[in-house]
Amino acid sequence: MARTLQIKADLSELLARQGVRVTRQRLEVLAELSRERDDVTAQVLWRRLRERDSQTGLATVYRTLALLADKGVVDTLSHHGTELCYRLCTESHHHHLVCSSCHRVVEVEQCGLGNWLDTVTAQHGFVATDHRVEITGLCRACR
Ligand SMILES: [Zn+2]
Ligand SMILES: [Zn+2]
Ligand SMILES: [Zn+2]
Repeated sequence: MARTLQIKADLSELLARQGVRVTRQRLEVLAELSRERDDVTAQVLWRRLRERDSQTGLATVYRTLALLADKGVVDTLSHHGTELCYRLCTESHHHHLVCSSCHRVVEVEQCGLGNWLDTVTAQHGFVATDHRVEITGLCRACR
């Protein structure tokens, strides 16, 4: 119980840091996402909430996840066909290795794009403000 309260407090702080108003539903969605090691679709997350007797509807789950992604609280991954997957990651800059078979997600902390990024953006007169890398493949277990 103490641990649950601690997680709730941490997640409230996380929302506040990103300028998102804390609501019961946002905390509920985020808490459920924090239990997942890899990533999940809105559908799957909603089903898990229902198994916990949550009354939160699917449309609300979609809306909440979209808002959290928009505010940079959660990451989106696009390896799963047309359906986005969501993940609560570390807050520092990282990239993703994603298994297209089992949804295993590995956070890669070494960016390594610095020089290449500087070169290609300069060539085209761009100033880079952000970038994301999602490498899709098969994990060790699925190979
Ligand atoms: Zn991430
Ligand atoms: Zn896999
Ligand atoms: Zn990077």
